[in-house]
Amino acid sequence: MAKAKIKDPWDQCKKCLPAKCCTYFALQVDEPESRKDYEAMLWQIAHKGVSFYIYRKGWYMMVETVCNFLRDDNKCAIYETRPYICREHSIENCEYTGDDYGWTEHFKSYKELLDWINENTNYRFKYKEPDYGRPNAKGRKLKAMVGCGS
Ligand code: SF4
Ligand code: SF4
Repeated sequence: MAKAKIKDPWDQCKKCLPAKCCTYFALQVDEPESRKDYEAMLWQIAHKGVSFYIYRKGWYMMVETVCNFLRDDNKCAIYETRPYICREHSIENCEYTGDDYGWTEHFKSYKELLDWINENTNYRFKYKEPDYGRPNAKGRKLKAMVGCGS
């Protein structure tokens, strides 16, 4: 049965804080075919805000990041000239109202992806619980300088 049209979209969007559809983007990526491909994905998903999902056999990378045009009041600062992706976004079946996007899989962490690879491919990756060490001033300073966790 078709869903009823929403009279005033703002009635719905003002309850969705912060606007879920404006706080991430997703792009299709090549289907992984080799150990190196999976290893690259594991490296990517090790970064904060990155996840992967499979939709209709296609692989997608999702990056959680807030659009620079999302205002503090949850409205779009460039509403009249927003990109077509935003204009075509369905409010009736959006991230706030919808609960099933037809994803086959959604990997939200390094471990989830690694487990799936080990169970569903011929590649085997070892997993060891991360050791973040004890934070100290010297370590924090070095990390800030080199921009990595090594
Ligand atoms: S996810 Fe849906 S309810 Fe939330 S801001 Fe976007 S269109 Fe509005
Ligand atoms: S341009 Fe506007 S509608 Fe599009 S993602 Fe950014 S804030 Fe949201």
